[in-house]
Amino acid sequence: MRVLISGAGIAGLTLAYWLRHRGIESVVVERAPHGRLGGYGVDFFGTGYDVATRMGILDRLTPHRLPVDAVEFVDASGSSQASLTPELLERVIRGPHLPLMHTTLEGALLDAVATEVEIRFGESIAEVRDTGTAVEVGFTGGGRERFDLLVGADGIHSRTRELVFGHERRFVRHLGCRLASYPVTDRYGWGRVRAHYTEPGRQVVVYPGGEPGRLVTLLLFRSPYGESVPRERRPDLLRARFDGAGWITPSLLDDAPEGKSIFMDAMAQVVMPTWHRGRVALVGDACGCMTMLSAQGVSMAMAGAYVLAEALASEPGHESAFARYQERMRPQVRRRQRNALLFARMLLPVTRAGLTTQSLTNRLITRRPFAPVLRRQFGADSFLPPATAGPERG
Ligand SMILES: Cc1cc2nc3c(=O)[nH]c(=O)nc-3n(C[C@H](O)[C@H](O)[C@H](O)COP(=O)(O)OP(=O)(O)OC[C@H]3O[C@@H](n4cnc5c(N)ncnc54)[C@H](O)[C@@H]3O)c2cc1C
Repeated sequence: MRVLISGAGIAGLTLAYWLRHRGIESVVVERAPHGRLGGYGVDFFGTGYDVATRMGILDRLTPHRLPVDAVEFVDASGSSQASLTPELLERVIRGPHLPLMHTTLEGALLDAVATEVEIRFGESIAEVRDTGTAVEVGFTGGGRERFDLLVGADGIHSRTRELVFGHERRFVRHLGCRLASYPVTDRYGWGRVRAHYTEPGRQVVVYPGGEPGRLVTLLLFRSPYGESVPRERRPDLLRARFDGAGWITPSLLDDAPEGKSIFMDAMAQVVMPTWHRGRVALVGDACGCMTMLSAQGVSMAMAGAYVLAEALASEPGHESAFARYQERMRPQVRRRQRNALLFARMLLPVTRAGLTTQSLTNRLITRRPFAPVLRRQFGADSFLPPATAGPERG
């Protein structure tokens, strides 16, 4: 069997690894000209951490742990109003937890497959035709090829989904907010803390980046659903949306790099009744984006890839494999989407009164007795059955 994977992100690379491990050939096409650079941080735990352990890549990840000692909710003067201490975080997650740059994880996954799997950077699918016995794919580079199956692991704005299932608007649930992220030099002394500052309709977050003396800035603001913002317009849009904001926001905006280095996207979930059609299936954000508010997108992308590879290797045909994969993964994703949705409603209050309520809630839930409440929202043990002894290296 020969599988085409669209997207060399977390889900695509993990799938390529596990297919190879199960003796199935794959080819990966990635739109970007090379592995991605820069980016944002992710909390890595639960099922994704379990899958990474089975791949034997933890040694490659742990030295790059982001040095986040605590999460602080600050006021305009930078004074802490509430704090999520490492001890409380441990009670919430109750298992291994590794804050990482998204690119660190992607880099480790790429290293794990690079010599074993054909990866074509700077390539993308342009046309898909399911003939019933194969999938014929036309590429943006001009070539055409036949594969047994196609898996879209091409993220929230999946091209595979658009070509095979329909327009993004049918499946994307916009949460009324946009996020932007970029690196800055830490001239503020926030060092080993993740700090959140909220005003009506907007929020500023800083946390340690992948290199010493660097911070990642995350800006969240209310915004109706709209097209992607061209990179050159991003700095101006951020300046307009955060005009007059307090705390260290003006300096963070002054320190913003050129638009091409600013990540920006809508905060949205992907909700689909079925994740497969004929010889095509979706995995990761393409079919089940939960948003950063679940803090488990990476984890579910890796879990989905693992479960899909296992199903393809053990089921008699792709129909039953896709069905089993969806049956196993979709309830896990839906539960996390519901939790993230609840959280989204409280994230950016629009009024001062709403802000006061949020601040009180933060103070309350960061107390020890409320750890079980946070655990219900964010905690996640691996849902995979225990692995046989030792890493299942490919
Ligand atoms: C600011 C932020 C913070 C987050 N925090 C966390 C967190 O703390 N914990 C967590 O677990 N998750 C977090 N997430 C979510 C997590 O990053 C995603 O859920 C995860 O990356 C999804 O993986 P994926 O492989 O499905 O998609 P992606 O990582 O988006 O990868 C998709 C890949 O497909 C490629 N691609 C796109 N279109 C095409 C095309 N047409 N042809 C070929 N290739 C294409 C892209 O270039 C990319 O390489 C966060 C997300 C954001 C934005």
